[in-house]
Amino acid sequence: MSAEQREIASLDWRGGGEPGGDLLIRGAHGFDPRSDLDRECDIVVREGRIAAIAESGAGELPEGGEELDASGLHAFPAFFDPHVHLRTPGQEYREDIESGTRAAAAGGFCGIVAMANTDPVVDDPAIVAALRERAETEAVVPTAFVATVTRGMAGRELSEMAALREAGAVGFSDDGLPVTDAGVMRRALQYQHLVGGTILLHEEDPALSGDGAMGEGAVSAALGLAGVPDVSESTMIARDGALCLYEDARAHVQHLSARASVEAVAVAKQAGAKLTAELTPHHLVLTDEEVRSLDARFKMNPPLRTEDDRQALIEALRSGIVDCIGTDHAPHAPHEKEIPFEVANMGVTGLETAFAALYTELVLPGVVDLGLIVERLGAGAELFDIAPSRIAPDAEADIALVDLDSDWEVGADGWESRSVNSCFTGRRLRSRPVITIVAGTVAYRRREFTMKVAG
Ligand SMILES: [Zn+2]
Ligand SMILES: [Zn+2]
Repeated sequence: MSAEQREIASLDWRGGGEPGGDLLIRGAHGFDPRSDLDRECDIVVREGRIAAIAESGAGELPEGGEELDASGLHAFPAFFDPHVHLRTPGQEYREDIESGTRAAAAGGFCGIVAMANTDPVVDDPAIVAALRERAETEAVVPTAFVATVTRGMAGRELSEMAALREAGAVGFSDDGLPVTDAGVMRRALQYQHLVGGTILLHEEDPALSGDGAMGEGAVSAALGLAGVPDVSESTMIARDGALCLYEDARAHVQHLSARASVEAVAVAKQAGAKLTAELTPHHLVLTDEEVRSLDARFKMNPPLRTEDDRQALIEALRSGIVDCIGTDHAPHAPHEKEIPFEVANMGVTGLETAFAALYTELVLPGVVDLGLIVERLGAGAELFDIAPSRIAPDAEADIALVDLDSDWEVGADGWESRSVNSCFTGRRLRSRPVITIVAGTVAYRRREFTMKVAG
């Protein structure tokens, strides 16, 4: 990690208060697989950094600091989401920097990367600079921005990647759309090799996706809906994995949905390509069976697929073929979602349910270890050469305090996000982040939790 790159993400926020707070987090169960921490402890925070991890009851409150009674809570290194749609500029009726980062903080995230498919799209260094400036005052958690790969996201000419990088873009993505033209992708990868950052890939071949509204298979056939075959994704991953290798460039495959995609990533990695990959909570937890309800809350791109695909994704998480978890938080307004399935927009919100959905559906049944989920929910930072949060002496105090016993109905007490298009609405989930600390400052405190806070 270069110090300069850490700067890019850490500078762009002030909304949670000035960083550098003093805290005593008393009686938490500290849990950080990266630091081999798994025990009751007091965490002392001075000037935004972890000063000591003391025996429970032995931690001293820094003068003027706040004491948080964290008995019964787990203290995790706060999460990092490499894939968020903040909808700013231009689509603030869905989300903005303030509401989106508040949703992130409510989900235990202390860093996010915003996608560039806004209105206008982020293809101009001046827009990157303006967004970074706004994030300094509006963002509740550190926020970084990617710029587009191509001008206007039209897929034809490259954006000014060097200038965008200089303006502070941490990477490049036309997410929402694929870069269909292989020649354009090749040149983008050549530039990536020169200017750094990474290229985030929404992998889809429009010629194969057609007007598909869900995953192609038995369920789409039964419903009579046009389907998107898995090869729409996997063939593009195979192409871009080969291009990455050829150009010695760095790229990241977003939101894998299918077994065939996992296999394509594995082949590229095995060949030595600098390719990383990401999974969303919804693809890890749900299948196309949900679409039988014809509820557009189950419509997203890439679509939900079969149980066999889901099992392959879980196995890829375990094996390390997949590097990180990202939510693809994609807010849409009711008039874009509460309409017939075929015409509804694609995308679901995800920041506020990510951990709870994975904990409830994968950790509690014993499918995946808690440590793996916590580790992969932080690993997205590494795509941008940002060090993942740690609970260790001298680390920046980016901490999520989570109540693993919390039992809640998703959506029942509202959302921090401006949008409500969650695919988990109405489900009962176990576990919930209650306090998110960024650089020693409380960036988010769940309302009903205030009674438990001392000091
Ligand atoms: Zn996408
Ligand atoms: Zn996306």
